[in-house]
Amino acid sequence: MANTLWVLGSVNADHMLQVPYFPKPGETLTGDHYQLTGGGKGANQAVAAARLKGNVAFVACVGDDAVGHQFCQDFHADGIDTKRVAVIKNAPTGTALILVNNEGENCIALHSGANTELTPSRIMPWLAELKAVHTLLMQLETPLDTVTLAAKSARDQGVNVILNPAPAQPLSDELLSLVDIITPNETEASLLTGVTVSDIDSAKKAAEVLHSKGVAKVLITLGKAGVLLSDAGKQQHFPGFEVEAIDTTAAGDTFNGALAVALTEGQSMPEAIHLAQAAAAISVTRLGAQSAIPERAEVELYCK
Ligand code: ADP
Repeated sequence: MANTLWVLGSVNADHMLQVPYFPKPGETLTGDHYQLTGGGKGANQAVAAARLKGNVAFVACVGDDAVGHQFCQDFHADGIDTKRVAVIKNAPTGTALILVNNEGENCIALHSGANTELTPSRIMPWLAELKAVHTLLMQLETPLDTVTLAAKSARDQGVNVILNPAPAQPLSDELLSLVDIITPNETEASLLTGVTVSDIDSAKKAAEVLHSKGVAKVLITLGKAGVLLSDAGKQQHFPGFEVEAIDTTAAGDTFNGALAVALTEGQSMPEAIHLAQAAAAISVTRLGAQSAIPERAEVELYCK
């Protein structure tokens, strides 16, 4: 369908614990509110897009374990097309160990598990189907050569490519030249451009560097300060919504999923940013990753 969104990316089991502060090396700390929930940037973005009423297909790998099978059922229940979610024998589902402190900041250690099996050869048979897709949304928790191959195929077939370059890592000029919209946070924008991004002015400079590498539209997310959009020679700041943040774990993922849905619906970029920032703001008021992602009706009420 013309408004279909593909999300290609990671699936992780998020083991989350609230702690008063981050422990120092050798220190043992007792936390509170332990949760095991669905996470991984790919899965979070697919779930966010589905809850925002997108027509979403997910391309991913889970392990052949209890949590992997449970997540497949959960994706299905969220209305996600899981035909291209592969269950990998003898591999664990990806895992994230997440500590959240009293300020709502997080500290995360990952094991990639089955995510490393999302290889170029695994996605190859599905690439021809991209021609019926409006937008491909990806992140960087799955092999980079797979992300590059999918971007190339999408570009060849006229599909809009959104790259959320997270977690922060260097990227080839080849990959950047295949991206239509890039959505780094401050850390990622700094690493990709060599410009230390800490405010709107430095974000504008970093956006110029990304344009010089061939990316048409740059959206730098600035946490509670909102978003800097740089597009067609125009740079515009969109302030964030004011909320009391308790856990920012899935803010960027919620933003990206919602943004992609709004764009597949034909909304303008400022409209899409408005919806995406409202969804992300709601998500930071709740604990967890997928458990914090709101539904469309709630976001629309909040937007008014
Ligand atoms: P990431 O989660 O990838 O590090 P950001 O922290 O920049 O990305 O957050 C992405 C978006 O989520 C922001 O542009 C903003 O719209 C929203 N957001 C994040 N933190 C807050 C906050 N404390 N208050 C309101 N909105 C927030």
